[in-house]
This record gives sequence, structure tokens and C-alpha cells, in this order.
Amino acid sequence: MTDSVMPTYGRLDVAFSKGEGVWLTDTEGNKYLDALSGIAVCNLGHSHPAITKAICSQADKLIHTSNIYHIPLQQELAEKLTSLSGMEQAFFCNSGAEANETAIKIARKYGHSKGIDKPVIIVMDGSFHGRTLATLTATGNPKVHAGFEPLVPGFVRIPYNDLDALRMAISHWPEAVAVMLEPVQGEGGVKIPDADYLAGVRELCTQRKLLMMLDEVQTGIGRTGEWFGFQHHENLLPDVLMLAKGLGNGIPIGACLVANDAVGILEAGNHGSTFGGNPLVCQVALTVLRVIESANLLQHVSQLSEQITKAFQHELAGQEGVKIRSCGFMFGLELEIECGELVQKSLDKGLLVNVTAGNVIRLLPPFIMNTDEANTMVVTLSELIKTFFAEQEHENVA
Ligand SMILES: *Cc1c(COP(=O)(O)O)cnc(C)c1O
Repeated sequence: MTDSVMPTYGRLDVAFSKGEGVWLTDTEGNKYLDALSGIAVCNLGHSHPAITKAICSQADKLIHTSNIYHIPLQQELAEKLTSLSGMEQAFFCNSGAEANETAIKIARKYGHSKGIDKPVIIVMDGSFHGRTLATLTATGNPKVHAGFEPLVPGFVRIPYNDLDALRMAISHWPEAVAVMLEPVQGEGGVKIPDADYLAGVRELCTQRKLLMMLDEVQTGIGRTGEWFGFQHHENLLPDVLMLAKGLGNGIPIGACLVANDAVGILEAGNHGSTFGGNPLVCQVALTVLRVIESANLLQHVSQLSEQITKAFQHELAGQEGVKIRSCGFMFGLELEIECGELVQKSLDKGLLVNVTAGNVIRLLPPFIMNTDEANTMVVTLSELIKTFFAEQEHENVA
């Protein structure tokens, strides 16, 4: 069926033809609870009426002109995002990788402006930043690098959640210009750093005049229960903030926001995008932000997150070998054994989940999920996990 598509994905044997809220229907008419939101993208669920309306009415007026001209909706979206985040300016592109590429270019040019010819960006083990050459180099996963060497120069890697390692790297690399990291590592296994880690990174960056570049492609736009992951920490602002996934609810858009020393680095002619920030995507992104606000979804995510976490603890009480992590609507259930096969088993039960880092079941439900749906998700997955462990034990005995 997909012979003419390059086989770059290990796909599950299912295709969907309709979505509504948290539910997806496959081409055979079976229904599934989508606990992944298209990987943190469709945060308002599928076929949200406000999004459908925004797409249709904007398509009826104007889809694309070019960044050769002013785009008032882009201006409006930049104002909204800067006011929500405290950042100063925005650049628009079409994906997370491109938002990160923008950040990497800013870091390098910032370095050159300080007379550093070969700027170095400090990145983390276990990180994920995208699939372009520079962002795959920044990514802390050898599988993503394999076969694409030579990698892009100018990156050094240190352990995540380790301020001593950062301190040492900064003293070891006088060419260091920036630190790039995720506030919670998503692909890396929903890794939540210590409460004082981000503030520690901020302090070191400020002291040594490095740019703190936060990849909030997954954590941004409400995923953690705040607009941005860094807002869980008081008085903390990154210098560069990268967004994508949830910003367009499925319409491709990425953004790179700057503050402090990162402002004014990119000048006319330094960077650009043909599609970036066209009227259609900006209208949709503005609508996403408006719906999150008007439906109080940040509060809903925070509250329901707590209930879901407690429900998992309750359902899995007595089950050894599972650790439950959560930050808003990012859930990671870490099993002590590899559990990739649970993705198919869960699909068979009508629940869409993902396994990352080999042994972490990841849930990224849509923000509009209600208590009943959350309950179905928790009970279905908990049963699967318990059965999975029981089967493993049986196998070991046999
Ligand atoms: C998904 C993701 C990316 C890459 O985004 P694309 O839109 O696939 O290029 C980058 N960083 C993080 C943290 C992500 O989760």
C-alpha cells in the first residue's frame, strides 16, 4: 500500500479516516481513544469546531502571500506569544526542527558578534531536537546520528539534570555561546529534572553570558499546565524559546522567540522561510491560543493531571517495576523492562499510546479530555501493564 512512500517510519497497521474530540475512527469503523494527540499536536482534539472554522474562513479570504510583504496576522500572533511568554520578538517557521535551526543560527551569530570564530553550543544527553543535520547533531541519541556522519561541528554534550557537568563544560569550553535543552525531555522518556535545575542553568548562563535556549516544541503551549514549561519557575525567562507542535493543532507552524541578548542578532537577510507565518497558520495559531484561554484549559490540564496521576498510582498499586512521572499532560510510565510491544497491544484495545526510550509508555492526551475519557485511558492501560508483567513472569518461569 505504501510502496511509493519512502519507508522512513515503522508504522502501525492502522489508518484513520475521521477524528472527533479525543476519538479517532479507523478506515474499518473502529474507534480509538487518542492519548497521544498526534504526538502533542492536536491539543484541542480532532475536528475542534473553532479550528475548523478558523481554517475555512481564513482559507476563504487569504492563505499565503510571502514574507516579502507585511502579514498583520503574523504581527498579531507575535504580540500574543510574546505577551504570554514574556519574550520580546518572534520568528515563524513550519516545524520544531526549523525553530531549533533558527535558535542554532542565533547562537552562532551571537558568538561571532563576541569575536568567537568557532562557537560551541552545549546540548544534553537524551535530548531530542529534530531531524535536520544541525538538530540531529544536537539530539542526544546515537540512533538518530547513525549513518549521517559527519555531524555538524560546534556541539558538545553533557548529562541532563547535572549542574556540575554544565559548570565544568562552561569552564572547559571558552567558545561556549549557548545551552540548548528541554524543560522536560519528551522523546527522552518524559524526564523531569530536579526542581532547581532550570534556575541553575539560567544562573550559569547569565553569569557566563551564554544564551539559554529552551526547546519547548513539545512542552510549550499548555502541555505542562502552564503556557510554557519554564513558567513553572518564578522569575525565569530563557533567551531563546522554540515552539511548534501544539501551536497549530495540526496545521504546521513553528516559532523561535527571543529575549535579552538574543534580540537583534538576526538581521534582514540572515534568515527566512517561504511558508513561515502565513495568514492561514497564524489565524489558526491565534485561535488555538484563544480557545486554550477561553476554555480555561491550562487549569483543566493541571487539575486532571493530578487526578490521572493518582488514578494510575491507585490502579498500579502493588505492581512492581513501574514508575509514574507526570508534568501536566505529559505522562511517562517507566517499566523496568523494554515494553515496545505495548503500543500494538494498546492499539488492539482501542487506545493510542507511544513507547519512547525503549521502556517508557508516553501519554500526551488532548487538553479537552474529560474525566470519563481519562478514566478509560487509565484503566485500559493499567490492565495492559499488569497483564504484560504477568505474562513476562509466566515466560520466565516457563
Ligand atoms: C518533536 C520535537 C522536535 C522536532 O519537531 P519537528 O516538527 O518534528 O521538526 C524538536 N524538539 C522537541 C522537544 C520535540 O518534541
